[in-house]
Amino acid sequence: KPLLEIIDLHVSVANKEIIKGMDLQVNKGEVHVIFGPNGSGKSTLLNAIMHLPGYSIDDGEIRVKSQNIQEMSTDQIANLGIGMSFQHPPKIKGVTLRNFLGTINRSEDLEAEIRALSMDAFMERELNVGFSGGELKRAEILKLYAQSPDLLLIDEPESGVDIENIAIISKSINKILQEDRPMKMRERSAIIITHTGHILNYVQADIGHVFMDGRIVCTGNPQMIMDDIKKLGFSGCVACVKEQK
Ligand code: ADP
Ligand code: MG
Ligand code: MG
Repeated sequence: KPLLEIIDLHVSVANKEIIKGMDLQVNKGEVHVIFGPNGSGKSTLLNAIMHLPGYSIDDGEIRVKSQNIQEMSTDQIANLGIGMSFQHPPKIKGVTLRNFLGTINRSEDLEAEIRALSMDAFMERELNVGFSGGELKRAEILKLYAQSPDLLLIDEPESGVDIENIAIISKSINKILQEDRPMKMRERSAIIITHTGHILNYVQADIGHVFMDGRIVCTGNPQMIMDDIKKLGFSGCVACVKEQK
């Protein structure tokens, strides 16, 4: 049974329809990447899955582990095993990174990961307040590591981040995906939103999609889609796939 099923999903934000009937299925162990132009609704998709306020699901269905999540709160959805790292993480005054991680931690070796992500010096600071681009993303991935979800929703891990930080973040993503366990089937899954595709150099993705005009317009090998986008742009990639059909 699929981990996540999205069926004919329609989502509006501020009374504007952003997602216009999209379908997606993520099975256990699969890593999907979603490419797409700025403002096309990629973040809206992840925010809608998590039922964040302001994202109205007008039609269609989201199922997690075969359960319709329609009536569930964000907290209940997280407890089903979905974790999200934000493109623009909120700053929370009065809550330290250590306190925050303490409330969500399910991992066994968080201290080691704090060191691996060089976040030791940030543990007593207010969550995300004054963090640089790379520090924000490292804190987000540390949060995911603590949560250890079955499905990771990662929104633009490379945006505003230098190449060295992308490598560090990717290493943690691979640890959450348990890629270090030899000869074992991947147990966890991810949807990674990427604008640049840099993440493909570090994380083994299985399936790529282009999201445009409110829906997924093409699906295939992530690297091939990336190459198409580089040569032909997002719409060119769509045309390319259409021709093959
Ligand atoms: P992407 O992540 O693909 O760049 P977004 O999902 O962030 O795109 O945004 C899609 C569209 O929805 C944009 O036009 C954006 O301005 C609009 N939008 C997203 N969030 C909000 C919001 N909270 N209020 C109003 N408009 C929003
Ligand atoms: Mg964007
Ligand atoms: Mg976005």
